[in-house]
Amino acid sequence: HDSSSQGETVGIVGAGLVGCLAALAFAKKGYSVTLFELRSDPRTVKDRSQKNLRSINLAISNRGIRAMKYVDEEITDRVLEYIVPMKGRMIHDLTGTKQESQLYGLYGECINSIDRGFLNECLLNELDMQENVRVLFDHKLIRLNDITTEVKPSMVFLDSKQHNEFKTFKFDYIVGADGAHSQFRYQMSRFSRLNYSQNYVDMQYLELYIPPNEDPEAVSRFHINPNHLHIWPRHNYMLIALANKDGSFTSTFFSPWSVIESLKTSEEFLTFFQENFPDAYDLIGEEALATAYEKNPRGSLMQVSAYPYHSPNGRAILIGDAAHSMVPFYGQGMNCGFEDVRVLMELIEETEDIQAAFIKYSDVRKKDLDAICKLALENFYEMSTKVTSIGYLIKKNLDYTLAKYCNGKYFQWLPLYTMISFRDDIPYHEAVEIEARQQKTLTGINYAVAGAAIVGVVTKLLQLYSKLNKK
Ligand code: FAD
Repeated sequence: HDSSSQGETVGIVGAGLVGCLAALAFAKKGYSVTLFELRSDPRTVKDRSQKNLRSINLAISNRGIRAMKYVDEEITDRVLEYIVPMKGRMIHDLTGTKQESQLYGLYGECINSIDRGFLNECLLNELDMQENVRVLFDHKLIRLNDITTEVKPSMVFLDSKQHNEFKTFKFDYIVGADGAHSQFRYQMSRFSRLNYSQNYVDMQYLELYIPPNEDPEAVSRFHINPNHLHIWPRHNYMLIALANKDGSFTSTFFSPWSVIESLKTSEEFLTFFQENFPDAYDLIGEEALATAYEKNPRGSLMQVSAYPYHSPNGRAILIGDAAHSMVPFYGQGMNCGFEDVRVLMELIEETEDIQAAFIKYSDVRKKDLDAICKLALENFYEMSTKVTSIGYLIKKNLDYTLAKYCNGKYFQWLPLYTMISFRDDIPYHEAVEIEARQQKTLTGINYAVAGAAIVGVVTKLLQLYSKLNKK
């Protein structure tokens, strides 16, 4: 098949969140787009467990929203009607006592819980309305050809609906958005000098479900406050829960593999759960917990790093998890993937030459992707352990107090979380650099305060000594 029409053609692999947004972005720029997806159309699959989604809901913050708005304001507004805003963390201790921890934003800014399937389907519906887009489900990418020569690249797919027939498609430009285990990336690494690494972290996740409150007399359909991200931090493992619009919560249990594997039966799992998360145990329910232990898949988590993201001929590019899968602890994987799309589109506008833009993208994006992947990994320690330590809370409060009072034109203090989640105008790597400078200042302030206190005590002692001497 030669898929070219009047305009230039773009073939995108992977109709996950990032691939769909990329398809919409290219379509809006007038390219003729074909989006390929390995799975069947999720809108035709009624049973949720068959959809094979990576998590039921996720947090969308400013970077993701800005990228969506850049592509299409209207669809963003429609999606935003279905979010549940979360203004901060709610910590659940071992006795089941809840404590509202640090708010996320300085001025009430929120991150937002959104149903992943709903978002994906919204984007697919929008693509259906574009004349210059076709979406081919049940197409599995097998091979890339001609990514190093000046000939147009082609892609070979296995069409599982057509007796596993192989089909070849040629495009002017191709985009790999086929997720963490990307075949596109593997093919690029085979035929060009693309380096990549994948590292599994010793962490599994198991998804659980807190049902809505069905009591007709209840004040709210939510058993716990929906406007917080709930965390049960237990050092090397933790439970989290994010609200869904219908009153339910999607909860995720993260632990090292050795912890879950040491629980050999559902009874052992229930005992462990009741000891560590007593209030969540009651909210989820014994039967549902046992079923989840037996039936729900246990996901693994990995970090992927790749470079460069473009092919030598500047006609292929890697975006989203395919380029930078990260652990989910900063809630930035999809946000960052959406930002990939915006950055790429802006480079195309700026250079007016898509090949030049693809090549430039690698240099522009590398530092930011490395920075956010590193932060994501570090944030597990913050969520599972640090959030309960006094030292951390004092430091965090000082950080936020400084930010509230030092927000002038010439000097601004910005907490790292604010820069990552709410300040989409600050690239990830710059946020990390600013934070490093601020931490140095904070340490300096700590030393100055401690020094002043020591000088004060010594002065007082000397005064006392001289008084005693005079007597
Ligand atoms: P994917 O969603 O993986 O989509 C890739 C698509 O490509 C899939 O549809 C797949 O079927 C298709 N595909 C794969 N191989 C082929 C092939 N050979 N041929 C054709 N198609 C193919 N991010 C956030 O921003 N906020 C959060 O709160 C958050 N929470 C998370 C919680 C968990 C537990 C996990 C695991 C992740 C979380 N993330 C979060 C990360 C987020 O889910 C990912 O970053 C995001 O889904 C990546 O989107 P993607 O489109 O790049 O890849």
